[in-house]
Amino acid sequence: MIDGAVMVTGGAGYIGSHAVLALLDAGHRVVVVDNLVTGFAWAVDPRATLVEANVADARVRDIIRDHAVKAIVHFAGSVVVPESVANPLKYYRNNTAATEALLESAVAEGVPHFIFSSTAATYGTPAKVPVAEGDPTVPINPYGMSKLMTEAMLKDVAAAHPMNFCALRYFNVAGADPAGRSGQSTIGATHLIKIAVEAATGKRTHVGIFGTDFDTPDGTGVRDYIHVSDLAAAHVAALDLLVAQPAESHILNCGYGRGFSVNEVLDAVDRVTNMKIDRRMEGRRAGDPAALVADNAAILAALDWRPERDDLDTIVRDALAWERVLAERGA
Ligand code: UDP
Repeated sequence: MIDGAVMVTGGAGYIGSHAVLALLDAGHRVVVVDNLVTGFAWAVDPRATLVEANVADARVRDIIRDHAVKAIVHFAGSVVVPESVANPLKYYRNNTAATEALLESAVAEGVPHFIFSSTAATYGTPAKVPVAEGDPTVPINPYGMSKLMTEAMLKDVAAAHPMNFCALRYFNVAGADPAGRSGQSTIGATHLIKIAVEAATGKRTHVGIFGTDFDTPDGTGVRDYIHVSDLAAAHVAALDLLVAQPAESHILNCGYGRGFSVNEVLDAVDRVTNMKIDRRMEGRRAGDPAALVADNAAILAALDWRPERDDLDTIVRDALAWERVLAERGA
């Protein structure tokens, strides 16, 4: 257990709110820093302290000192790939530059541990799947580049200052807290499983399939879907590792090491809902790779972490349960 508080930036967002739950459940003291632009105050468990602030604010230094922060888990940032293509500077500002400012505060206050939300988008279109951490990183959009630049910054900072880091490269995150305490509440979400459960609850009329001519077994895109609660647990395990081995830093894929096609995901949604969701064949979306699957040998070797909800129907069931909570709220 860490001797102090864990600061979670973006803790009011989708993945961040689940990490807050996992950290609290593990007994950590948590202070959330979130500007509430895309996150929701109600998504922050009341056991945590919520401070409404930008991570780039100089004020963050005071928050670190006031709460005796000994680790930062940094989720805050912008996450919509097509938007990053249209408005790249927003991504270099909110992701790269804001993290630089946050690191200035962390280094000035001597914060010893830093966990960073990175992404499989750092790989771009991998030459082979599963893709491993040492494979080439050639992002094909500003979102992936903004995160890769942050990884580079972290390596240099960890070499120069008494801080170690773990960058977790997320594959496709989906599902919701099995206890129903949080879930994906993002307005105007674009992710497949979220869209499909929105269709199942009547928020949408159909699901478009973006491309049926990929070089994959059924022609639709293949992704490695990871349950948000397993992903949240990986952050707690990563923190334990950083504390136990303060001289080591890590970059780790977060995925299950197996892929499902869009059709297989929609089959799971049909199974779980006992419906036949209307599928419409549409053209490819710009910048979508055919297949993205994690080689997860490194994370399994490094962390005291094992997937617990690595079943597609479980992921869909949990996502659907949360979507029904939102529907009841009229959200
Ligand atoms: N996808 C789709 N219809 C949708 C949303 C996504 O066919 O409404 C496909 C997308 O082309 C990709 C996969 O589903 O092959 C996962 O896309 P998502 O946006 O969920 O995540 P990404 O892999 O782009 O981060």
